[in-house]
Amino acid sequence: MKILDGKATATQIREELKVEVKDLVRLNKRVPGLAAVLVGDDGASQTYVNAKVRDCAEIGFNSELIKLDASISEYELLKKVEELNNNPKIDGFIVQLPLPDHIDENKVISAINPTKDVDGFHPENFGRMALDLPTFVSATPQGIVELLRRYQIKTEGMQCVVMGRSNIVGSPVSILMSRNDNPGNATVTLVHSRTKNLKEITRTADILISAIGRPGLVTKDMVKKGAVVIDVGMTRVDDNTKKKGYRLAGDVNFEEVKAVASHITPVPGGVGPMTRASLLLNTMKAYKRKEKKKFMR
Ligand code: NAP
Repeated sequence: MKILDGKATATQIREELKVEVKDLVRLNKRVPGLAAVLVGDDGASQTYVNAKVRDCAEIGFNSELIKLDASISEYELLKKVEELNNNPKIDGFIVQLPLPDHIDENKVISAINPTKDVDGFHPENFGRMALDLPTFVSATPQGIVELLRRYQIKTEGMQCVVMGRSNIVGSPVSILMSRNDNPGNATVTLVHSRTKNLKEITRTADILISAIGRPGLVTKDMVKKGAVVIDVGMTRVDDNTKKKGYRLAGDVNFEEVKAVASHITPVPGGVGPMTRASLLLNTMKAYKRKEKKKFMR
């Protein structure tokens, strides 16, 4: 069994980006800029956003963290989005989700200029991804595919089962795995909470991607021998032995499943760091699109 080390791979990606940024600095060019909007004081969101801003600092991107009170009106938030759309120093920005209940998330996402939507959540970018056009693929699906690519996992002709159909992970990763590309060209089955005979289906998977958010749900008996197992799940579970009082748990019962899998991602240290690295890749892509007037896939 081989660990698909997302942490090490993400470090490698950051190193590659650092070199690109150094070249820009050497040539006296502007460096890429990312802004992150955080509304309210949700602990998990704060942790994610702080990490994203830290990543930018590490590789030499400009970054801006915009913290807004949870009571901000939808109108005021939309105004902020418009400001960022028009800010020439910002190549891309994200609005950290979830937003407070009184704000319509879809409205906010749709207000982001698609050319700066480095989270890839805008309907235009999702549509372009589905049509295999140049776009910003959202960070987690892109991170998964990048991990498979860098570990040279064969996907063509493989049976891939994706667990979960969310707009940000399950659905887009199922599209990426089935499109005519490498990684891709897999035969994909998407399962969800209404799926019958879940175990029979997951056992057909050469590549099993779980994005459901139920700690330990994927057990050994659900996995085919030799399967590649990607665990997207990241749920905070109470743990008094930890300083923070919780630990992050994946969907996969790692100890059991590692005995049958050929490759497996750990939690933490698997898909999570790859998600963060993908946001940086998308920001560099947005920068190049703006500077070179060229939009790459
Ligand atoms: P989500 O929007 O809650 O979607 C969960 C999906 O799982 C739904 O499609 C749901 O089916 C399905 N599901 C729930 N219980 C199931 C069951 N018992 N059997 C089969 N399917 C089941 O979640 P999400 O936003 O995609 O996130 C999923 C997990 O990934 C969470 O733990 C989240 O924290 C994690 N995540 C990690 C990263 C990362 O960077 N590592 C990024 C994003 C998300 P229905 O549609 O029928 O309800």
